[in-house]
Amino acid sequence: MIKINENYLKLPGSYLFSTIAKKVKAYQEAHPDADIIRLGIGDVTLPIAPSIVKALHEAVDEMGQASTFHGYAPDLGYDFLREAIAKADYQERGCQIEADEIFVSDGAKSDCGNIQELFAEDARIAVCDPVYPVYVDSNVMAGRTGQYDSVSGTWSNVIYLPCTMENGFVPALPDQVPDMIYLCNPCNPTGTTLTKDELKVWVDYANANGAVILYDAAYEAYITEEEIPHTIYEVEGARTCAIEFRSYSKNAGFTGVRLGFTVVPKDLKSGEASLHDMWARRHGTKYNGAPYIQQKAGLAVYSEEGRREVKEQVAYYMRNARTIYDGLKEAGYDVVGGVNSPYVWLHTGEQTSWEFFDTLLDKAHVVGTPGSGFGPSGEHYFRLTGFGTYENTVKAVERIKNLKK
Ligand code: PLP
Repeated sequence: MIKINENYLKLPGSYLFSTIAKKVKAYQEAHPDADIIRLGIGDVTLPIAPSIVKALHEAVDEMGQASTFHGYAPDLGYDFLREAIAKADYQERGCQIEADEIFVSDGAKSDCGNIQELFAEDARIAVCDPVYPVYVDSNVMAGRTGQYDSVSGTWSNVIYLPCTMENGFVPALPDQVPDMIYLCNPCNPTGTTLTKDELKVWVDYANANGAVILYDAAYEAYITEEEIPHTIYEVEGARTCAIEFRSYSKNAGFTGVRLGFTVVPKDLKSGEASLHDMWARRHGTKYNGAPYIQQKAGLAVYSEEGRREVKEQVAYYMRNARTIYDGLKEAGYDVVGGVNSPYVWLHTGEQTSWEFFDTLLDKAHVVGTPGSGFGPSGEHYFRLTGFGTYENTVKAVERIKNLKK
């Protein structure tokens, strides 16, 4: 018999988005004339900006010439990109992060999933609840999460940090001390954010307890409010306790191109062991990392033209998110997000999040994402996103408003 990793078998049922796709397909088949609008997707919809497409073409051409051909990329990323990142994303914000603390990758999903390999098998994880499911799933596969209770939707060995209307979506410090703390800021799915002072509480806690913060800043580009930090390294003390994930997916449309990076400061240590040195040995360095072509495209994001184009795209999605937020608020929903994030999170009242999904699909022909798919505290919430077209967003919001009449 093949000896498998049985932890994989613990992963519950079908994935959230495949269940949604099945339901929508069945509904469309039964109602072929229904004009269904999808406001549930977490993927971008605008094409890659022209200056970045140009960089992609140029890089492809270089690969076709002996004199400019590139083989395996350097393990940790090309210096040209790491230097641009260190300067634009950190040093210009007053953060002391050097180019050699940046590890370029094929995206934040891989890094968020793979990072847990650095930690002990019995390390206890804490996650904001609800949150991006990859943090818990990757630890399930690693055998860290204990048993699943399908009634409560919780794992016995995970410390959940509820983020709900009641606590203003700010997680409280847990009673039991975790070893790994996943924070997502701005948060997918709630669209809410933590301020620098709120993050400082976590940084101090992690430093005092020998815990590590795994900080996902995939939606950093959507932050509009001054007091919201763009990186955890804006918080004093973070260099000794925090790893940060970034992505070019949501700011520059690279969901299909694949590019991201992770910052592991050299000050992050466990006794004599350097987590920076450990991550340098990680899976997927030369082989699954980001090739030259993607890294050149990433560099173009930092050019003057690239920055302007990317900013316009983010503004487009944010106008949609704001339209959803304002429309739902006007209709009387309890709603958050949409200000520093493309996500809008609404309370479904008495209905469960799947009941609300069905109502919205049937009565408004709008598809969103049930909050329960993001964790137990997501029940009775629902996620809508600004990633559709503006015209469809306006149409969908009108239909949702009509439901309340
Ligand atoms: N982190 C969060 C919070 C996300 O929502 C997503 C994608 O939806 C990712 C990471 C994945 O990013 P990437 O496309 O770089 O793998």
